[in-house]
Amino acid sequence: MEPRSINMGDVQVVLPERSEDQTSGGLRRITAAIEKLTDDRGFGLGGESGYGAYWESPVFSMRRFYWGDCDCGFEDRSERWHADHPHADDCFQIELRRRFAAYDLESGIAALEAAIRADDAMEYHTETGPFGEMVSWSKRTAKGEAAHKAWSEAYDNQRKEHRRLTEQLYIERGMDPKAYQWFCTCDTDKLAAAYFEKEGHYPTCALSLPNFRHHATGFEARWYKWIGRDNEYVGECIWPDVLRECLADVAERGRSGIPNATQTASAEDPEPIPPR
Ligand SMILES: [Zn+2]
Ligand SMILES: [Zn+2]
Repeated sequence: MEPRSINMGDVQVVLPERSEDQTSGGLRRITAAIEKLTDDRGFGLGGESGYGAYWESPVFSMRRFYWGDCDCGFEDRSERWHADHPHADDCFQIELRRRFAAYDLESGIAALEAAIRADDAMEYHTETGPFGEMVSWSKRTAKGEAAHKAWSEAYDNQRKEHRRLTEQLYIERGMDPKAYQWFCTCDTDKLAAAYFEKEGHYPTCALSLPNFRHHATGFEARWYKWIGRDNEYVGECIWPDVLRECLADVAERGRSGIPNATQTASAEDPEPIPPR
């Protein structure tokens, strides 16, 4: 397969691979039909008509990848659960955390990190790059450079000492030193596993809703950022029947199939185009 590319000004950008399977192709054709009604073309790494569009009708629903947070309250429920089920005071995790904190205080690394974070002149920039947030080392000032050197040494010592403290606690407790270091020796982790097996985001949560659903067959598609990227399907999609039905629905319903503008967001890719 030829790598796809787009021209952005005078920069030619090679796009990441996207799935060319029949379902992805069908979803892009449906997207293109909706885009004709709105003039809102998501365009970026996902390619032309690659993001999906917003649609709500008895025939099918479509929505773009959702960038936001949980809107069903699960995160609050989860936080509350954890607040109600703290680890026991003598749980391995709690004891280890206590010893780490004592070392961090005593060795001065905690104060060092707080000072770096509080001082804008240190210029530890974070920038958003193609792979998410990263620290830019290039713009460090001389003061920042010195702080970084001091911190690096403190950090190396801290890692060594934390490892030693962990091993020591394993030995004290008669545990296998190769076990996971945040081993929970009270009931909290067990209770959490049981609780979170049943509890999760509600099906109506923006994080749970499928990006595409054909209502008559129940076929659902979910993708990550753009169509064809880590697609997940529920049920079987009968192409080209479903495609034909959806395209006819768009043609018939026109703009009335587009849900309220407040629920829709542009698919502008928040990630910048990576350099060549
Ligand atoms: Zn949720
Ligand atoms: Zn515990």
